Amino acid sequence: MPDAAGLLRRLRERLGEPAVLTGDGLQAFEMDWRGRWAGRALAVVQPRSTAEVADAVRLCAHAGVSLVPQGGNTGTVGGSVPDDSGAQVVLSLRAMNRIRAVEPAGLTLTAEAGCTLAQVQQAAADHDLLYPLRLASEGQCTIGGNLATNAGGTQVLRYGNTRELCLALEGVTPAGDVFGSLSGLRKDNTGYDLRDLYIGSEGTLGVITAATLRLFPRPVAGATAWVACAGLAQAVALLHRLRRRFDAALTAFEVINATALAIVARHEPACAAPLPHAAPWAVLLELGSSDAQAPLREALAEELHAAQQADTVLDACIAQHAAQAAALWRTREAIPTAQARDGLNVKHDIAVPTHEIPALVGALSAALAQRWPGARLVLFGHLGDGNLHFNVAAPPGMPAGEFLSAHEAAINTVVFDEVAQRGGSIAAEHGIGRLRRDALARYKDATALALMRSLKRALDPQGLMNPGCLLPD
Ligand SMILES: Cc1cc2nc3c(=O)[nH]c(=O)nc-3n(C[C@H](O)[C@H](O)[C@H](O)COP(=O)(O)OP(=O)(O)OC[C@H]3O[C@@H](n4cnc5c(N)ncnc54)[C@H](O)[C@@H]3O)c2cc1C
Repeated sequence: MPDAAGLLRRLRERLGEPAVLTGDGLQAFEMDWRGRWAGRALAVVQPRSTAEVADAVRLCAHAGVSLVPQGGNTGTVGGSVPDDSGAQVVLSLRAMNRIRAVEPAGLTLTAEAGCTLAQVQQAAADHDLLYPLRLASEGQCTIGGNLATNAGGTQVLRYGNTRELCLALEGVTPAGDVFGSLSGLRKDNTGYDLRDLYIGSEGTLGVITAATLRLFPRPVAGATAWVACAGLAQAVALLHRLRRRFDAALTAFEVINATALAIVARHEPACAAPLPHAAPWAVLLELGSSDAQAPLREALAEELHAAQQADTVLDACIAQHAAQAAALWRTREAIPTAQARDGLNVKHDIAVPTHEIPALVGALSAALAQRWPGARLVLFGHLGDGNLHFNVAAPPGMPAGEFLSAHEAAINTVVFDEVAQRGGSIAAEHGIGRLRRDALARYKDATALALMRSLKRALDPQGLMNPGCLLPD
């Protein structure tokens, strides 16, 4: 049996009394953002430096006490909260929130893991540069959490996901040793890439303490448009048309179905969609260039006009100024919070090759309508990346909790079987956490899963780093 009292005493001696929280008042660390996962922690530990993280991890390892790393606690798959044993330590990185360096010439920024994404975006903007990761949770989620989940967001089409934005990592192993260098080198072929191993590891292999990130010139010319489409096939055709014309200047291409927009209009009326008629699908797209003279608005208007002539587009509006563009993005970003207000959904975060999306959604809509008549499909996501948030809400009048407990498992099977048949991913963006562990066992290639287990055993032989998250038993 771990000596919990002895561990808490040693943690307080090393990190100081205020850094080790126990007792009541820990709910913000014990419950996830969706309110679906609630546990009980032995303590919440808040180190302020890499050395303190290493000491806290080492003390927990000696005591045989498991750790749950936590950043902004905005994860949607239950990976950031403790179980209900009251025996796990939550290691919160939020007090490690210094920007260590910005190198404008090398286009790099080095940040501690607890910096919020918004803080890093601002630090880049202060040097007239761009850190392009953009998520609706950016005010609260942290760089450590972004790396641990390999977060995506709305600009992946142009800039890639967090993995592509990270040049180097510093972290602490499950034994409490510090590894990594934050040199920001673009080339370093000196063996296995630990950076890539830790990105997406969801706190199961150790703790990320800092990272060197890639910056980009800030786009100074841009165009943002809201487009109504009759179907997803038309949206895919528009994507191909715009990619051919604009290539890397196309920075975002998001789709939203009418049900998702109706939920935004009901719960966030200030963020309601701009076009008057209710088309089945809307596209929110953005172009950007660091060339101030690039005539993007005119060229986009030309392409949208041609697309309308070809029946790809029903209607479109191009933002006339930055405030209008920001309002269009607020509509898109209001979806997760409007959805949370609307009630729990059976959520899926799936990817298939982009051209497969219309057929996937067609097949799933038919299969789900047959078995669960009246269930509402709340669909939105990053069409340019082939990634859709495919959410199934209770039929009107049925309590969401009742719908979930009775049907979630069966709905997951229908959705994931269809995705797997098309060579897709059951977790494109948000990770596996506790929510998708069983599905991973079913859908992940067996050899890949065995290799993942071997790595986990080699790096964390006691199994103390975020047990219950990611890897199936
Ligand atoms: C409104 C809203 C919109 C969102 N939109 C998107 C989106 O567009 N794209 C997207 O990808 N996600 C999205 N998310 C999900 C979430 O914001 C991301 O997964 C984010 O990267 C999590 O960061 P966090 O700091 O909150 O991590 P947490 O929720 O605290 O943790 C997430 C996981 O990472 C681990 N972890 C956290 N910090 C560390 C660390 N320093 N070292 C090791 N492991 C660590 C945790 O143990 C846990 O397993 C959204 C969430 C919300 C609430």
